[in-house]
Amino acid sequence: MKTLLLTRSDLNRGSLLLVNARHPLPESVAPERLTPFFGSGVLLERRTALVLENLFTAIGCGASLIPVSGYRTLAEQKQIYASSLAENGEEFTRKYVALPDCSEHQTGLAIDLALNREPIDFIRPSFPEDGICGLFREKMISYGFIERYPEGKEDITGIAAEPWHFRYVGLPHAAIMKLHGFCLEEYLDYLSHFPAEGPHLEITIQNKSFEIFYQKAEASDGSVLLSLPSTLPFQVSGTNTDGCVVTLWR
Ligand SMILES: [Zn+2]
Repeated sequence: MKTLLLTRSDLNRGSLLLVNARHPLPESVAPERLTPFFGSGVLLERRTALVLENLFTAIGCGASLIPVSGYRTLAEQKQIYASSLAENGEEFTRKYVALPDCSEHQTGLAIDLALNREPIDFIRPSFPEDGICGLFREKMISYGFIERYPEGKEDITGIAAEPWHFRYVGLPHAAIMKLHGFCLEEYLDYLSHFPAEGPHLEITIQNKSFEIFYQKAEASDGSVLLSLPSTLPFQVSGTNTDGCVVTLWR
């Protein structure tokens, strides 16, 4: 076994970070962790950009799909919220625009995509179910992306259905969420039932075996001391719910 000490700041990062109205962004993203998506003006967290570029290349959709909005600063989110309030009113804005510091666009892990067809709506881009958009949806799971605000989950996510907003959560998580029909809030709640002290979630996805558990931060400074098998590849992601998810490749 080996031990790993994670600080509060370490737990404020990772592809399973939950950011919503009840869980504001814990820490702004360092600029060096962002990169332009395919050289565009849209910034994303580095791994998210790389994996999404691979997905775009695999399905050849670079000319058909347009990145509308990726990483946003707090100032940009404030400005979008204020201008939507002025232009669209309060009811529309509450449904479709997250409050400043409660938008997962501020994590760099989310992107709004539009079908390349004029006119392109900045707040509600068109991303139909069929054609190239359908192919994107079909392939995205195996690249670790989810549709973050599905229809029917509005009461849980607090955001109206947004078929254009995609979020990187990584593998095997995107596949498990799809399997159970979970949105991110439901998935993190589900994982909290597999604590470090066990039993852990054991699952096979795409012919690979995974062991997953949730480690709560117990120390007064919010840090976590993890005990991990010394030989297995692993990944740790903060959740912004006072803990982290540990994924072991078995
Ligand atoms: Zn969005």
